[in-house]
Amino acid sequence: MKDQKSLYQQWYPNTYQLKPYPLEGRKALTVKNRQEIYQRLMKPQRHLIEKHKKYQMSSFFVNQHHLIDAHWVFETVNIDENYNRKLKRYHLHCQCGKAIKYQFILKSKKTGETIALGITHFADHLGISQEVANEIKKGLNQVDLALDELLWLKDRGYTFPEDLWQQFLYGLYRNKELIRPYAYNQVLVKRLLEFKAAAMPIFVADYLAVLNEIRAIEMRMKEESTANFNGNKQLFERFSNDFEQVEKEIEVSKPKYHTKSYELYEQWQKVQADERAKVFEDFKKLVEAAKLNK
Ligand SMILES: [Zn+2]
Repeated sequence: MKDQKSLYQQWYPNTYQLKPYPLEGRKALTVKNRQEIYQRLMKPQRHLIEKHKKYQMSSFFVNQHHLIDAHWVFETVNIDENYNRKLKRYHLHCQCGKAIKYQFILKSKKTGETIALGITHFADHLGISQEVANEIKKGLNQVDLALDELLWLKDRGYTFPEDLWQQFLYGLYRNKELIRPYAYNQVLVKRLLEFKAAAMPIFVADYLAVLNEIRAIEMRMKEESTANFNGNKQLFERFSNDFEQVEKEIEVSKPKYHTKSYELYEQWQKVQADERAKVFEDFKKLVEAAKLNK
């Protein structure tokens, strides 16, 4: 039995050893520093940061919905990354007219009316306590700090860890040959592909998560005999290309349906093929019956 790791080493003698990645994590940035680094990013990289910030802020609100008054639901957050008061550079405003960096859009459950707010005026305009407003502020600050990690890494010259990604792909390549393949984290894979496309360094937590995934696949390989595995470098590289291509296509072609539809679709996928055939049969009968009744 050939050791799977040594096979990879034989194929990529120069890159199998992972380059150092700062696993101890970010250093906090000053506002000025944060903006300077941000300005130097390429457009797709800025989009990526904005998207993740928006996503994290939205999930903060969804998880902390009790913080806001029962009358209001969080709709979205608009972010002005170039916001600078001194230079009079801003384009987002609070309900009261004040220029802001983060504009939170809340919707009234009763009337459907929306309201645009800066974080410091949450208490004033919503009638929630200053204490709760501070709680929200703290949470959103955390999001800012989390994204700082990416900027900090970028500033230190880190980019997307292609070497780690390739080892992960190798794991996935081996994984698909297993009788009981490991159920890898698809959300993580999707996020990695996004970061790869933008040539951005990844979150330290994601880096560690990938190492864990690779380890988990290796464990599964040890459980199963891999005696008849014939690894082939060309095949592996083709697999890698196809894998990235397919993921991209899925992303593009995926229609944006209501969440409920996705759930139903997943349920439908779980139904056995023969059961599906039966449902189709019933459906056909129904159509026939409807025709006859006309
Ligand atoms: Zn205001």
